[in-house]
Amino acid sequence: MRYVSTRGGVAPVSFRSAVMMGLAEDGGLLVPERVPSVGPARSGYAELALEVMRPFADDVPELDELIRAAYALETYLGPVAPLRPVGDRFVLELFHGPTLAFKDVALQLLGRLFESTLALQGGRLNILAATSGDTGSAAISGVRGRAGIQIFVMHPRGRVSRVQELQMTSVTDPNVHNLAIRGTFDDCQALLKRLSSDLEFKRRCSLGAVNSVNWARVLAQTVYYFAAFHQLGTERVSFCVPTGNFGDVLAGWYAARMGLPVARLAVATNTNDILSRFFATGEYSLGAVEPTLAPAMDIQVASNFERYLYYRMGEDPSRVAAAMREFAATGRLKVEGEDPLWAAGRATREDILRTIREVHDRHGTVLDPHTAVGWHVASQLELPPPVVCLATAHPAKFPEAIREATGRDDLARHPRVEALEGLPTRCTVLDASEQAVRDYLSSCCAPA
Ligand SMILES: *Cc1c(COP(=O)(O)O)cnc(C)c1O
Repeated sequence: MRYVSTRGGVAPVSFRSAVMMGLAEDGGLLVPERVPSVGPARSGYAELALEVMRPFADDVPELDELIRAAYALETYLGPVAPLRPVGDRFVLELFHGPTLAFKDVALQLLGRLFESTLALQGGRLNILAATSGDTGSAAISGVRGRAGIQIFVMHPRGRVSRVQELQMTSVTDPNVHNLAIRGTFDDCQALLKRLSSDLEFKRRCSLGAVNSVNWARVLAQTVYYFAAFHQLGTERVSFCVPTGNFGDVLAGWYAARMGLPVARLAVATNTNDILSRFFATGEYSLGAVEPTLAPAMDIQVASNFERYLYYRMGEDPSRVAAAMREFAATGRLKVEGEDPLWAAGRATREDILRTIREVHDRHGTVLDPHTAVGWHVASQLELPPPVVCLATAHPAKFPEAIREATGRDDLARHPRVEALEGLPTRCTVLDASEQAVRDYLSSCCAPA
């Protein structure tokens, strides 16, 4: 399988090259040249993952081994994607990985893919990432101790939750660099953009990406949609997905394109609702980002949206490139036509708190604030049953929100969170200046 850029400016590359490249060098996103149908047989998670992913990664003979290690019992303490009935819906629990968020599903595999590719091709990889919380810890957990790789994670100093900070800074492997930036998350993201769009610097430092522009993340996430379907054993299924950067729900859309019988696919956003507005009106228009109780979804420009746009625009890279130019210039773009697969809705702060309280009172299940956004939106929409709500994080990552919703301190606990207290930590504080980050990276990335 070869991969092309949504903007048409890159010669087709292999799966491995697409994974190492991250963002396409013309500024677009890499997509598979075609989407084959897959019809995985009912089996365990690792077997299912291999069946779904193999056609897309046919240049990775060790894929089976990597998948087995990523989803083994040392990594996941139980099933990767168990389905729990809650009321008349189902909750797909994707938070049983090392950092208790669904991002582990893809990043445990991606770290191993990087390592085996470097072992084969030689060279080294330096990953630069910016995080408002969850991505950083999952990426660090995926690559800690791996040969040939260093990771540099910028987080806004003093502005991530205590649990999130400890999940990152308590990892003291020498290949992990936590950078606490004196600034906001937007500052961190702007630094990441500036440094990784400097192609000379990117090459000299062998910079790679772990955010969901990386195709391997989207691909790895398609698997649990199949896993949910197999556990249900029904003819069709609807999904409701808490959405920020549009990576998770896009994986559901690819699963449908691979042949999974998806009835409806619902995009659930918090009040940073550019995507739910798009699916309601066809207009994608930028708003200001405001902080919410579901911080991993406090995003307005969803980097993966361009992948979907590519298909809506008839897989025509010149139309995508023109649309993205228009968006960069005006902050808006309009897409004609409709796709009846999609549904969308949003949740306010009050909706999130009420949902956490009500679902706990009625069903005894504690939802984290991101999952509560999805649950609320599923209640607003009439989705054909059965409805699967994706649970993207364990509530123990967000104890403050659970306390505010329920008045209780004892509902949001997890031994992996409790084990973080008192561990030694390591972190470097830097100014929010391009030069400061550049100097730090240069000093750690001596050429191979
Ligand atoms: C990252 C994240 C999301 C949003 O996922 P996207 O792929 O960015 O749409 C939702 N919930 C949690 C807990 C997350 O960490």
